[in-house]
Amino acid sequence: MVVCPFCSSGHGEVLESLPVADLDALYRRLYKAPVARLFGGSSVLSIVRCPDCDLRWYEPLAGGDEAFYNTLQHKPWYYVDHKHEFDLALPYLANGHHVLEVGSGKGNFARFLHKSGLNLSYTGLDFSQEARRMAATYGIDIAVPSEDSYISQSNNLALNLPPHHISRYTDRWFENAAQHLNLELVTVQHDPLQAHHRFDYIYQLTIASIYRMFGWKRPMVDHSLVNWIARIPAFVLGKLLAKGLGPHNSPHGHTVFAVFRKPLRALDPMESQQVRENDDRTL
Ligand SMILES: [Zn+2]
Repeated sequence: MVVCPFCSSGHGEVLESLPVADLDALYRRLYKAPVARLFGGSSVLSIVRCPDCDLRWYEPLAGGDEAFYNTLQHKPWYYVDHKHEFDLALPYLANGHHVLEVGSGKGNFARFLHKSGLNLSYTGLDFSQEARRMAATYGIDIAVPSEDSYISQSNNLALNLPPHHISRYTDRWFENAAQHLNLELVTVQHDPLQAHHRFDYIYQLTIASIYRMFGWKRPMVDHSLVNWIARIPAFVLGKLLAKGLGPHNSPHGHTVFAVFRKPLRALDPMESQQVRENDDRTL
């Protein structure tokens, strides 16, 4: 029985498994970052789906440690100065709001908010169990990797695998999460495919198409000779066709943005008066 870390259902079903040694080899090759030590001696990693809430996650659930993130954080591309979701979040903020950013990195969103001129209180959390607990409990604003985008079908995509990403989120999960937490789901918006991901989209699509053409199953981490050969046309087509992609013919990008709202509880007359006074001060 595999218990869902979000809704506690015991119906988790294994979608696919991969040897930890393969994942370790991928991270070593791409980032010189060994990861096998993080999985508690397990030799196999499985992606599990909860049929009740539609969350997908990896068993064993193991995130990166400080040494792992220190390796990635030194890559110049790791922290993007401006993300599309910053613009999406701004209209939902107003003076006096308290902002909690889970996974605040080096503080790019905090700087963006500071420039916006809004009077906000801000707390950034990064890489801690407490951050995950608060996100799951309160679920106010989450920006997370989207399982309803092309990356769900990408292989050898180390940064969408543990220990970097330990769970995957479909649009259906957001609807179920709102119900489970008694929140209103205000909006779900997908990031457009970013210009610097266009090559990767064509590259992944080409490799996936070659596998499908021959009826082969494509593992999440693939060090096979076939994969190495398929990378040649994928690279060429990626370089050629990425220039022809634009907003009109691109799939969803990496990230999905969701806004949840706590339903207002009925206030007694004294509280209502206080809220009105606070609103007047805000205006
Ligand atoms: Zn669940």
